[in-house]
Amino acid sequence: MSEIERESMEVDVLFVGAGPANLACAYHLKKQVDAYNEEAQKNGKPALEEPAILIIEKAAAVGDHQLSGAVINPRAIRELMPDFEEQGFPTEHVADDSQFMAFFRNFHVKSPIVPPMFQKNGYHVASLSNVVKWMAEKCEELGIEIYPGFAGDEILTEGDRVVGVRTGDMGVDHEGKPKSNFQPGMDIMAKCVVLGEGVRGSLTKQLLDRFDLHGDNPQTYETGIKEIWRIKPEKHKPGRVIHGSLFPEFLNELNGMWLYDMKDNLVSFGFVTPLDAENPNHDPHLEAQRFKTTKFMQDLLEGGELVRYGAKCVPSGGLYAQPKLYCNGALLLGDGASMLNIMKLAGVHTAMKSGMLAAETLVDALAKDDFTTTTLGGYTERFRNSWAYEEHMEARNFTGSAQLHQLFFLMNVPLLIPTKGRGLVDKLSTQPGHANMKRLSELPEKDRKPHPVEFDGKITFSKEHLVQFSGTQHEVDQPSHLVVADTDVCATACLEEYGNPCENFCPAAVYEMVDDPGSPNGKKLFIHHENCVHCKTCDIADPYQVITWTPPEGGEGPNYEKM
Ligand code: SF4
Repeated sequence: MSEIERESMEVDVLFVGAGPANLACAYHLKKQVDAYNEEAQKNGKPALEEPAILIIEKAAAVGDHQLSGAVINPRAIRELMPDFEEQGFPTEHVADDSQFMAFFRNFHVKSPIVPPMFQKNGYHVASLSNVVKWMAEKCEELGIEIYPGFAGDEILTEGDRVVGVRTGDMGVDHEGKPKSNFQPGMDIMAKCVVLGEGVRGSLTKQLLDRFDLHGDNPQTYETGIKEIWRIKPEKHKPGRVIHGSLFPEFLNELNGMWLYDMKDNLVSFGFVTPLDAENPNHDPHLEAQRFKTTKFMQDLLEGGELVRYGAKCVPSGGLYAQPKLYCNGALLLGDGASMLNIMKLAGVHTAMKSGMLAAETLVDALAKDDFTTTTLGGYTERFRNSWAYEEHMEARNFTGSAQLHQLFFLMNVPLLIPTKGRGLVDKLSTQPGHANMKRLSELPEKDRKPHPVEFDGKITFSKEHLVQFSGTQHEVDQPSHLVVADTDVCATACLEEYGNPCENFCPAAVYEMVDDPGSPNGKKLFIHHENCVHCKTCDIADPYQVITWTPPEGGEGPNYEKM
């Protein structure tokens, strides 16, 4: 439908995604322009024109797609807004009891020492969804416009520069034909496009390929499953933040968990597994349910009720997988810029900091009216001179250690902090997680079938049940936003070699091989796109790399209220 007439609008800076990185950037940009103008007035220099700033967000409301284990290091928000607490930052508790544990089926061992990366005392426990809602209000108070329900569909370029973004069409049926409510997407032209789409953003992917911005190592990922539970009041311990791993599974796959207490007797539980498993039966949802069969979790959740469920990938590649942060007319922020510190399993503070550094660069660009790499390159310089970079330096060989060997990981990680991230070998390379996946025939007989968990319907649940707690919704009559380039592969090579791992790795039961007598092997792929929780696992983990996650109609997807 490229020939249809589209509305067009122009702004100075267009932000794609209303997450913590972009909101911090937009807020700081406004404040920095004011500061620049005050200084200019004092020195008799020309002032900057007030920039037109627009933020578009694919969720129906700001915050709906935000999912994170939000135990937030306050360093960045304090720099952004020193009086953030007085201004109503939605802190639920301040952590004062960091714990580190090894979990076994029937017992757990609490470490007498909490490793520095899991020391969270003084950090703010919050719902990330509430944090970004609050940040959006602060931006709107400064006159920044936010359009929720608008998904960025395509990067617009002219020659070697980004000039804008086309938003997605609305009201298209499953055959791609316009329905009665059809609304074409619009072209938003901007001097600079700032991509803070979160992990594996679809426009970020386009940009990385189009301008060859990929980092030295390929990006790697982990999938986090998150559940919010309301527990019995006597079990609720505000201020507690637990990190740990499940044994003996940890010796095969470096899993990790978090648990912390929120307001109203709620606890946030998350289980994270790397997306580089050798076994195609690897199932992040199943691993999280297995963790809940430990005595610790059974005791904690007994008598409680599940409130919310969600899933999200996080980038784990860190500094060595960091893409180039800019090109002519565009900047990358937050998860899309590999800003998450996987060693600390923390990315909100570094995302915000990346936003602030980008904002300071944008002030330069506005002052010089130059949005080419000459000026936008200052963002990388600022990052390299920041505490966020220092933090990343310490973690730079974390994922490389994990991919090399579990024993090497256990030996090397304790050395990373005292050696400022060098460890025993620097620099360790990584490979994309999907390249690690083995064919079923290459695995020992005992590992060729999934190791199931018997769901009790009280504490452990199936994907189909849990996805109802994500609040996700998608119009059924539209083209699937999960685009599989070659579904023949699913029914032939993938079924025979890997046993269709999409049925395992998707935490929302989106992919199903259904009976089809006409297909080779009697099966064909059916996509329940309406279940998708936008975690991006399929786009990353598919061994043939034929699945592409694209944004569905604006306003669709999960509703991560309280998450
Ligand atoms: Fe995640 Fe893909 Fe499943 Fe959607 S379809 S929930 S993005 S794995």
